[in-house]
Amino acid sequence: MRIVLASGNPDKLRELRNLLMDLDMEVIPAGDMIPSWSVEETGSTLEENAFLKARHAAVRTGLPAVAEDTGLFVDILGGAPGIYAARFAGFDCTYENNINKLLRTMLCETNRRACFRTAAVFVSPDMEFSVQGEIIGRILESPDGEGGFGYDPVFLPDGLDHTFARCTQEEKNRISHRARALMELRERLLSSGLRL
Ligand code: IMP
Repeated sequence: MRIVLASGNPDKLRELRNLLMDLDMEVIPAGDMIPSWSVEETGSTLEENAFLKARHAAVRTGLPAVAEDTGLFVDILGGAPGIYAARFAGFDCTYENNINKLLRTMLCETNRRACFRTAAVFVSPDMEFSVQGEIIGRILESPDGEGGFGYDPVFLPDGLDHTFARCTQEEKNRISHRARALMELRERLLSSGLRL
């Protein structure tokens, strides 16, 4: 079965392909089928944004679509950056700009609890559903590690002694917010009767 991934993020494509590797599913990035594909994320929740992207890609490609949207929710910041994690330091900012802003904003804070949350959705002419995944941890005072992407160098998941940026892809895929959401999505697909 061919499905379209409603995301232009190569880091997510890599993680998703890895997670769905054993299913008979070819994951095609939306950008490969729709030139300069992009969707404005105008929703007010992760789920709304994920549905915006998936419905758009499904309509434009005629294929079932998967999309996900992730936020970083920091307790002491009242849940910020939340759904605005990608543009915390402004539009067109880099992962590094976002990390620097987060660390500046949290300077001297002792409560460093935070979680990543992902909403993943599936959209096809026959069915639509959404699932969630979450991982709790803390934001370190300075980056540690070169791997992963986004806020990985400053996120220390509960139960691990190293950041996401020091995890192998396999290790991150066992426990991450996205992995948990996508494993749930995978279970829902397997039990839906769709031929995979
Ligand atoms: P998106 O809207 O789902 O693309 O995610 C928003 C932002 O959250 C991304 O630009 C990254 O900065 C961050 N993010 C999403 N997933 C992860 C992750 O697995 N690790 C670290 N940061 C992430």
